[in-house]
Amino acid sequence: MTRAPRRTTAILAAVVVLAGLGGRAALPAAVGGPLGDALFATLVVLLVALALPRTGPFVGAAVGLVVCGGIEAAHLTDVPAQVVDRFPAARYVLGTAFTPADLPWYAAGAVAGGVLLALARSRSRRARTLPRHAGTELPGRRRAVVGSLTVVLLVALAAAGGGLAWTLREEARALTTQVASAQAALADSDGRVADDAVRSALAASIDRAESVLAATPLVERRPGDADEAGGRVAQDVAAVQASRLTFARAEVTKARDALAPTTRRAEKVLAATDELAKGGQDAGETLRASSRDALGTADELTSETQDDRLATASLTDLEAAAADLAALRDDLADATTDLMTAQDAVVCPEPDQVWFPQAGHLAAKSLAPIPWARQYSVRADVLDGLVALDDAYRAEFGQHLTVNSAYRSYDQQVEVYNPDDPNPLAAPPGCSNHGLGTAIDISMGPEGFDGARYAWLKEHAEQHGWTHPGWAEPDGRLPEPWHWQSVKTPTEY
Ligand SMILES: [Zn+2]
Repeated sequence: MTRAPRRTTAILAAVVVLAGLGGRAALPAAVGGPLGDALFATLVVLLVALALPRTGPFVGAAVGLVVCGGIEAAHLTDVPAQVVDRFPAARYVLGTAFTPADLPWYAAGAVAGGVLLALARSRSRRARTLPRHAGTELPGRRRAVVGSLTVVLLVALAAAGGGLAWTLREEARALTTQVASAQAALADSDGRVADDAVRSALAASIDRAESVLAATPLVERRPGDADEAGGRVAQDVAAVQASRLTFARAEVTKARDALAPTTRRAEKVLAATDELAKGGQDAGETLRASSRDALGTADELTSETQDDRLATASLTDLEAAAADLAALRDDLADATTDLMTAQDAVVCPEPDQVWFPQAGHLAAKSLAPIPWARQYSVRADVLDGLVALDDAYRAEFGQHLTVNSAYRSYDQQVEVYNPDDPNPLAAPPGCSNHGLGTAIDISMGPEGFDGARYAWLKEHAEQHGWTHPGWAEPDGRLPEPWHWQSVKTPTEY
């Protein structure tokens, strides 16, 4: 049985180690990695032949493949991880994870190891059969070394070429996936970004990536080109996502702020109808309950969407919150309208009439008697203007304003309101601004709208904070020259 000479095997092993280390240092990881795997398997075959010189090329290659495959498969257990944990240097032999893609490289390296063993044996056999004299052994051995080096070089070249092709294909595959998800991100973000420039940038980087993918591998597209294009796409996708977050946050803030006035109105109406319900005028507990529920939800959503919470919320949460807020605003407005409709008192028959829950229920301390007509009162804060108006009026006409009516309590309004009159002079209870203490009826004399008093008041009342409303004008719904009201009269509930 011939055997490979130990010295040749040792030289080959050293060359393989150097080639492996050199490859790892000089080549890109995508090429150096597979080459290193192959040379590792070759080294294992040579080490087996060194330890057991009688090992044949086939057995050697088989043992090398089994050893490398075994090490790879061992990563399916946590044994290698524990070993590396204790002896970090073992990482160079054991690797770090189970990678099935490494197996073909191990096989190639093991075969190369077997070929090297076969070559070394044949040289050794030939050398032994020749007559021994100086000069014949040495060229034979040199040829063996040169032949072996050629094989190592060929294996290295094949591994490098394979690695290069593999790298180009994997890079293209990764970029194709990335482009698809970037296109989805671009389509999803239409109309949902704070700054449209980020979408244009992404569209441009997708175009660039597509032209990289269309380029001829190796000739127009070098290793790393696709990675670089992918890096730009990733960067632009991130910018689009960030801009979407900014936009979604602004949308939530807008929806939250829009909910606030609807909430305030709903709270007022609910409180007023609760008061009415206590007085026996129940609009229906069901309607009040649904208004109360919607208000509770509004409270929750409002506190959940405060700015500090929005800063950390995800895009999905933000977009859902904006939709929830908008839907809730509609629900709440509907609940309030239902409640007002159900409660007769809160619905005034005319569009210019506004129902106020406090109308006719003002506290005595908020009212002040009119000094020259003490049986009548107005809201205390509008009295000064009325007195000033009266002073000017008196200077012109030599007499006080003739007041016929001012603040009316709820019960007084009930008395003057005639629901059977198709165009009643007095508004229903709750709907008259006499109930707010901001209106007075003043006698205009028999000339009414045509008289000097009306003309003078039209010209001077505004200076003192009093006005004649549109509905009471000659062409208004209910022409009343006598009805005047403070400019402070609220026009909206
Ligand atoms: Zn009036």
